[in-house]
Amino acid sequence: MKKFLAYTIPVILSLAIGALGSYVQSPSISSWYPTLIKSQLTPPAVVFPIAWTVLYILMGLSIGRLVALGDMSVVRLWLMQLLVNFLWCVAFFSLRSPLLGLITILILVALVFAYTIYSFSIDRIAGWLFIPYLLWLLFATYLTGYIYLNNPTTATLSAANAPQSSITIPQSSTIYTVPALPYLSGALEPVMSSETIEYHYGKHLKGYADNLNRLIVGTPYEGMSLEQVVTSTDGAIFNNAAQMLNHIIFFEGMTPEVVAIPKRLESAIVRDFGSVELFKEQFTDAAKSLFGSGWVWLVEDNYGKLSIITTQNADNPICQGLNPLLVLDVWEHAYYIDYRNRRSDFIDGWWGIVDWQKVEERAKFSPSPEF
Ligand code: MN
Repeated sequence: MKKFLAYTIPVILSLAIGALGSYVQSPSISSWYPTLIKSQLTPPAVVFPIAWTVLYILMGLSIGRLVALGDMSVVRLWLMQLLVNFLWCVAFFSLRSPLLGLITILILVALVFAYTIYSFSIDRIAGWLFIPYLLWLLFATYLTGYIYLNNPTTATLSAANAPQSSITIPQSSTIYTVPALPYLSGALEPVMSSETIEYHYGKHLKGYADNLNRLIVGTPYEGMSLEQVVTSTDGAIFNNAAQMLNHIIFFEGMTPEVVAIPKRLESAIVRDFGSVELFKEQFTDAAKSLFGSGWVWLVEDNYGKLSIITTQNADNPICQGLNPLLVLDVWEHAYYIDYRNRRSDFIDGWWGIVDWQKVEERAKFSPSPEF
């Protein structure tokens, strides 16, 4: 029984401190920490809780072994490193101080190093059980040192420190929000089910917005309009910003009401495509034949001329100086729940829910002032 308690008490104590530590860390892990460090330097978020749980268990087993052997001499050292471990969570993740974080983790490494050496001299297995923890700490020290030396600007820190509320956000930072749908989630049925809307609008689009808000903090693009971000970035920020913009135009361009094509738009379509039917045919063909993931657009150039273009992945016509009027999402996630692989049926149905009023509102119709 005594032996059992010798192992279980330190394991439970370690896990409890670990749980408390991760509770302290969690607000920063998702919003602040990823902005400080290059993504290739840090493992995916899911690795952290798993690694720490394993390490805390090994940590508890190590001291448990020594106590079970009747040696109480290093218990104090062990408890001290556990306390400093928690203080490091507070200093670095809660107070968000790279300097305090670096100081505490260096003290922690010293204590863990001392414990490891000392426990090796009493029981080799107890020593080995601490080695993974020591290695992990050395890696964490390297990351903390990297963050400290690269000295994130005060702007980054204060922007990330600001509570996510519209009242206290500094002028420089913009939170990109997803506009509310102009219809109920089931309103487009049977063409588009509420389940598709829940995933496509509720999860995909929201995901792009969350990613963008996370990635943009501390970059020169912070505070720009979504359109400005799309036309001035590439990589992950571009992908998330452009996908956000594409989806906003897509969801705003649909309606459960039956909307006739307004006269002005109709005459522009007839002028540039021959007839509304020919336009729809050409658009449908482009949508059916678009390979992979992408978008089909009705666009307007600077002279007011309409045309149909397709873009791959996240690309948006504004990158080519074109004004998007209408878009169809032909990524598989747009139709797979309702239509499986039958993209054609999705396209045919979608024509019935196009909000032509909205399409006309987006058009400028006249040569833009720059020309
Ligand atoms: Mn989509």
